[in-house]
Amino acid sequence: MNVSHLECSLTGKTYPPNELYNLSEAGKPLLVRYDLENASRTLTREVLRTRVASLWRYREVLPVVHDENIVTLGEGWTPLIPARRIGQQLGLSGLFIKDESLNPTGAFKARGLCLAVSMAKELGVKKVAIPSAGNAAGAMAAYAARAGIEAHIFMPRDSPAANRIECIEMGAHVTLIDGLITDCGAEVARRKDAEGWFDLSTLKEPYRIEGKKTMGYELAEQFDWDLPDVILYPTGGGTGLIGMWKAFDEMERMGWIGKQRPKMITVQAAGCAPIVRAFDEGRNEAPEFENAHTVASGLRVPRAIGDFIMLDILRSSGGGAIAVTDEEMIAAAREIGAAEGIFCAPEGSACLPALRKLIAQGRINADDRVVIFNTGAGIKYLEAFGL
Ligand SMILES: *Cc1c(COP(=O)(O)O)cnc(C)c1O
Repeated sequence: MNVSHLECSLTGKTYPPNELYNLSEAGKPLLVRYDLENASRTLTREVLRTRVASLWRYREVLPVVHDENIVTLGEGWTPLIPARRIGQQLGLSGLFIKDESLNPTGAFKARGLCLAVSMAKELGVKKVAIPSAGNAAGAMAAYAARAGIEAHIFMPRDSPAANRIECIEMGAHVTLIDGLITDCGAEVARRKDAEGWFDLSTLKEPYRIEGKKTMGYELAEQFDWDLPDVILYPTGGGTGLIGMWKAFDEMERMGWIGKQRPKMITVQAAGCAPIVRAFDEGRNEAPEFENAHTVASGLRVPRAIGDFIMLDILRSSGGGAIAVTDEEMIAAAREIGAAEGIFCAPEGSACLPALRKLIAQGRINADDRVVIFNTGAGIKYLEAFGL
């Protein structure tokens, strides 16, 4: 609504708002820039107390121009839950779970796809397509159905049954592919022009980041404008990591927070850890991870187009990148479930063994406020839990 322009994340080249975009001319993600001075005339920390309990409370820093194009199912404004038992076991006084499983379709993908589909509607798109190994597909199917837009989904054949079934029941056209999400992406790229599909792949359109950035706004608000010290974030394509970092920057420019930033920690699966490997090797780019495999379908992203942005965030925040095995994730899901009453997706539970490793390395202080993101609902991964 206050969008001033879009900007290439690599070259800084600017693009006018209110047009359909995928990548920049340099083949990199586009970032949405706002007139924050204008936004902050009506959007203030105080006024938020009166706002709707969804991510639309941050209306002025979201890109949809006309309210009638907003496609909403109640996404965002998820609870920040103190994890007292696990915190105590780990010797931490402030451990919190940001529980994203309460979003529509049971995962935080709803935030990004809500904005992407709303903008697609605003810009006149009739058909959307996505390669997805799981929750992005379900979220796109839901928002496309609600918008009256035709949805085409390309999924690896071994994606969780819940994701496959939810897409079909929400009226999407689902094609199963023998391969990885990168193979699904290639299929969308090959057919989209002939079919008239708009590609909603992670970071290949500018607005999923805008939806996911609201996690950063919410954390600031829920911590009373004093950001936590450490954030552990299960990372696939990296939209959430990039989005939260962008939100912190926007809030600082509006005078809501200071310069202090949390240490950002990427958590990946040992079977697919391109960002961890690139971080450890000191690289600025993350080459494709060979033979990617993990039950955490959201982390099965062997090559991320926003790799250079993520690596920069991890380093400039003083954070890091940690890999955990599937066995560790599954064991941690039961641990968190039994101690805190939250049945985490394996992606979310991966944060607990990662946190243990950080503590063992002496990188967490006992009084740090630590947030782990439960990005999805365990109930959507019954195969991983032994069905
Ligand atoms: C997609 C997904 C992730 C990874 O999110 P990105 O923002 O793409 O890095 C993590 N957890 C779950 C449950 C997901 O569906």
